Amino acid sequence: MTGLTLPDRPTPPEEADDVWLHCIDCGEQHLPFEEVLFTCPDCDGLLEVRYAEYPTFDEFDGDERVWRYSAALPFESGVSLPEGGTQLHEVPRLETDIGVRNLRVKHEGMNPTGSFKDRGMTVGVRVARELNVDRLACASTGNPSAALAAYGARAGLETLVLLPEGNVAAGKIAQASLHGARILEVDGNFDDCLDRVQDLANRGEAYLLNSLNPYRLEGQKTIGLEILERFRDEEGRFPDRIVLPVGNAGNTAALYKCFRELVHSGALAPGDVPKLTGVQAEGAAPMVEAIEEGREDTRRWTDVETIATAIRIGNPVNAPKALPGIRETGGTAVAVSDAEITDAQRDLAGEGIGVEPASAASVAGLRKLVARGEVSTGEDVVCLTTGHLLKDPDAAAAAGNEPEGVPNDTDDILRHLAGQSVGGGLLGRLRRLF
Ligand SMILES: *Cc1c(COP(=O)(O)O)cnc(C)c1O
Ligand SMILES: [Zn+2]
Repeated sequence: MTGLTLPDRPTPPEEADDVWLHCIDCGEQHLPFEEVLFTCPDCDGLLEVRYAEYPTFDEFDGDERVWRYSAALPFESGVSLPEGGTQLHEVPRLETDIGVRNLRVKHEGMNPTGSFKDRGMTVGVRVARELNVDRLACASTGNPSAALAAYGARAGLETLVLLPEGNVAAGKIAQASLHGARILEVDGNFDDCLDRVQDLANRGEAYLLNSLNPYRLEGQKTIGLEILERFRDEEGRFPDRIVLPVGNAGNTAALYKCFRELVHSGALAPGDVPKLTGVQAEGAAPMVEAIEEGREDTRRWTDVETIATAIRIGNPVNAPKALPGIRETGGTAVAVSDAEITDAQRDLAGEGIGVEPASAASVAGLRKLVARGEVSTGEDVVCLTTGHLLKDPDAAAAAGNEPEGVPNDTDDILRHLAGQSVGGGLLGRLRRLF
């Protein structure tokens, strides 16, 4: 571990109370709720939410969901369904099979709309209300649009989602549609959709709720807080490593920020910070490339392809926030093939945990890193599974067992189960007649 870059000593801009926005490029500070800001007005750099004080674990209370952690968030409460408090499953067979000391799976598919995006939206839509905007928008590979549609509906606000035509899983479109979002199918890929929605936001036409929005990442920090609290309570220590799928790298940035803030408050010793380990699909791996080549930022991949549509992203907007997180925590990044992703999806399903393809990338990546000897067998690891199986029913059906046709006859069914041929053939029909 090379040590974490701590937030600067808090020096709030004049007139700010205890929350403000800090540009990670030029260091300029901005008042949070005066005007609508997505990037730094001075240099267009990424903004980060800063606080006058960072909490310790003692300051969190209430039920185990996102707003339990309000001491680490810009508000006391939000537009809530409620979200967070997801299971940290034990997976004994997979743990033995992959070969690490302790493997847990944090299943974010159990959030209200079936992905971790809900954690960001409960905070982001709360901020939208504070700013009195009347239209919300996001570009989406699917899950952000499902989450924004639901939280926008909850808040009574108009919602617009921009999706890449033909590349969004069925469950996600169904959610956005029924929750009442206007769905614009753009003739382009996800990165094109994000360009368009940023233009709309810059022209004042909509409030942007992609992970470029720094408040979404505040909500997503609670994934890290929940993992650390739960793991410590159950195992008496913190996990060595957190492995997660990476698309726009918002979650990676959010976990890194969570750790820095806890180190800053003294709640987490620098030596106890889990190693952040990102997994991408081979067909969309600009973060892996940047880590391997030691680059400060990612190169934009224009042609991206993978079964894991939620991480089919060629230009990860949060790379400048996430790359230092992977490096400073001593983590790494790895790419996995679609076949490895599907195998991991089946492995998880075999432990009763149903996830969409992108989610399984974390487990596929861990398996690969252990096999390569880059992750030691003595480690305690938490894999994040980001979205629910039903998000992408087509991928699940393709990866799973084929339905088997049988006659409407118990004896025939028993013969079929015993491996004897029955059914629609002439023999089967004759047998049923006599
Ligand atoms: C959004 C999403 C990701 C990618 O998360 P980033 O924060 O963009 O890296 C991964 N898996 C699923 C299911 C998602 O919805
Ligand atoms: Zn700036």
